[in-house]
Amino acid sequence: MQLPREVIVGDGTIENVAEISRRLGFTKSALIIAGSKATYEIAGKTVKELLEDRKMEVNTFLVETATVKDVGAVEEKIKALKPQVVFGVGGGTKIDVAKCSSARQETPFISIPTTASHDGISSPLSSIKGFDKPYSVMAQAPIAIIADTNIIMQSPWRLTVSGCGDVVAKFTAVRDWKLAHEEKNEYYGGYAASLAVMSAKLVMENAELISKKGEEGLRILIEALISCGVSMSIAGSSRPCSGSEHVFSHALEMIKPNHSLHGERCGVGTIMMAYLHRANWKYIRTTLEKLGAPTNAAALGVEKEDTVKALETAATMRPERYTILNELNLSHEDCEKVAKATGVIQP
Ligand SMILES: [Zn+2]
Repeated sequence: MQLPREVIVGDGTIENVAEISRRLGFTKSALIIAGSKATYEIAGKTVKELLEDRKMEVNTFLVETATVKDVGAVEEKIKALKPQVVFGVGGGTKIDVAKCSSARQETPFISIPTTASHDGISSPLSSIKGFDKPYSVMAQAPIAIIADTNIIMQSPWRLTVSGCGDVVAKFTAVRDWKLAHEEKNEYYGGYAASLAVMSAKLVMENAELISKKGEEGLRILIEALISCGVSMSIAGSSRPCSGSEHVFSHALEMIKPNHSLHGERCGVGTIMMAYLHRANWKYIRTTLEKLGAPTNAAALGVEKEDTVKALETAATMRPERYTILNELNLSHEDCEKVAKATGVIQP
């Protein structure tokens, strides 16, 4: 079980980066992976300056996407520079690339998210385009997470709402996991599952507070995202955090790439999967509405037919991951009925 050793959430926490680095024994060299000028200016530069103030040798490498090629390029950098630690500074993609390449080169990794858009900020998994799978693969858990709420508050609100969708998704992910345990005798970890469920519950209960866009609500979301990441570290897989709603999201993204954000698709998926699990799907929808998150196909920017097709093909996305979709084996007509009954497509 790999778990983060330092988790720091709050206003101005980025100022502690050098101290945390020292506490973990990294006093000589670091490589910062950041994104375009925007995220570099907002956080990467500060990290570099603070580490250099402590006489550390700091190199920076900017990436725009999270592809196999990006991971390869960063791996080459790590091989050449041999930094003691790799920092991933930015939104999802930068953290994914830093996490995956540092894991492959057996170098510790520190996560400094500038957005709260999904649980990859703290999980041991990376989502990289170009691998043979459309979903996340095991990499390594960050040794430290520094989430500065002042920085994250400057990111577009839509990203934060998407992060809420990714947490709400645990409502059905854990039900799928339990189902796989009962039907397929798959390993089920009660502790990891409880941690994921509790995160979803906290975000749902505080939807109104979060929607006020203040620091208090953001903190709840960030802590939930971090707990979700930790639950995956405990489980040793993404099981507690990724079920039928996630395979639906992957299927929809395959059918129509780049139309919406990961957490937005997962949120809409959770409404339908909760319906299939005979759970309180209306509560999921009301919560997402409160947060201002998409609750239907039109809001996601996809056609009716694409949504139905994604539902129909979702179970084949990840055959080894048994979910309610495998259990029910829905026909095209069934899928259409589900999408209509939950208001995801218009009747
Ligand atoms: Zn997710």
